[in-house]
Amino acid sequence: MSWIQRYPHLLELTYTAADRFLRPFCGWLKRGGWVEHLLIRTESLTKGSLFDCRMCGQCVLHSTGMTCPMTCPKNLRNGPCGGVRQDGHCEVLPEKRCVWVEAWERSQRMPVYGSEIHKVLPPLDQSYSGTSAWIHHFGHTAKGPKGWQESVED
Ligand code: SF4
Repeated sequence: MSWIQRYPHLLELTYTAADRFLRPFCGWLKRGGWVEHLLIRTESLTKGSLFDCRMCGQCVLHSTGMTCPMTCPKNLRNGPCGGVRQDGHCEVLPEKRCVWVEAWERSQRMPVYGSEIHKVLPPLDQSYSGTSAWIHHFGHTAKGPKGWQESVED
């Protein structure tokens, strides 16, 4: 865990600022070309060191308490498995806290995006692996398979 993850509210403010900063350049943020290469390198360096990002290309950090779900040994993107130990640690890696326990705790300290943890996230599309999540964010691609509908559970 990086120290900055202790401050999820600061991270969501940074995410909001980055979203606002990049939005006017939406037209440039397309697949292929030097802009995507630059973004891939930037995301890999920054999110890699801050969140242990695995470059899935479909970033959901703001919906998961600024905790990367791909660091779960089972790559679960919609909550924990049934094997979370009583002390909140992982059944596969007992020395590690469950990614989803941390995601839940951090989301409770995120006034802007914290409630998004209740959303059911779309299935992962492996074909986006290694691509830029920002490109897909602004291009509204990588939103799940055909027929997928976003839903919110209360
Ligand atoms: S959700 Fe995907 S893009 Fe976001 S930090 Fe995790 S691996 Fe990286």
